[in-house]
Amino acid sequence: MRKNVVAGNWKMNKNLSDGIALAKELDAELAAKDVKCDVVIGVPFIHLASVAAEVDTTKLGVSAQNCAAEASGAYTGEVSAEMIKSTGAGYVILGHSERREYYGENSEILNKKVALALENGLTPIYCCGEALEIRESGTQNEYVINQLKDTVFKLSEEDFKKIIIAYEPIWAIGTGKTATAEQAQEMHKALREAIAEAYSAEIADNTSILYGGSCKPSNAKELFANPDVDGGLIGGASLTSADFMGIVTAF
Ligand code: PEP
Repeated sequence: MRKNVVAGNWKMNKNLSDGIALAKELDAELAAKDVKCDVVIGVPFIHLASVAAEVDTTKLGVSAQNCAAEASGAYTGEVSAEMIKSTGAGYVILGHSERREYYGENSEILNKKVALALENGLTPIYCCGEALEIRESGTQNEYVINQLKDTVFKLSEEDFKKIIIAYEPIWAIGTGKTATAEQAQEMHKALREAIAEAYSAEIADNTSILYGGSCKPSNAKELFANPDVDGGLIGGASLTSADFMGIVTAF
């Protein structure tokens, strides 16, 4: 059966000492509580090794927010999937709408990144989601399914089973405007059906599909109560342990 997952995405927030302090608070909370989901924090590259060394990564997974599209070599400023793995991190967020929009990441680039992440034993948290115009035109399901068809649906069954999908409607990210529980469920169900068609009903049933977009302690329970919503990818509300734990304990 698929896992419930709550993953934080700190984005470009927290200096090293603040990041370590937050990670340690979460680590202590998770050591003391029996939670019903896997918990992951997506931290800036430069904090990965320090954070991974400070927490029990079997209880608090550590994720990068991106990786290079090449394995190694003369790519100044890039960070490879192998380097990420060597820090003790186990996950990488790929295809976030901010990376697609501000850094021109397209399906071709993302396919290379997903392949390298998998080759290096990282679990990709693969983001997809539509902009407001697409939602308003009513073509969101087809649009998001096509994002998957162009990328992760090209993976072998064996590799696809290793990824986590995060549906993040762009109009809900950082805007305070959350998709309703019905909108989230409708999309997640459509994505699960598309996975069943691309692979099998069993694989679809075992794939964790997270919702992302202004998820907070006050709406997490309602979102996570949907049969096809298996957790969340959390931006703003992952920046304090009180808010993040409020979401983790919504399961
Ligand atoms: C995100 O960027 O992945 C996200 C979901 O952000 P927020 O929770 O702040 O909307």
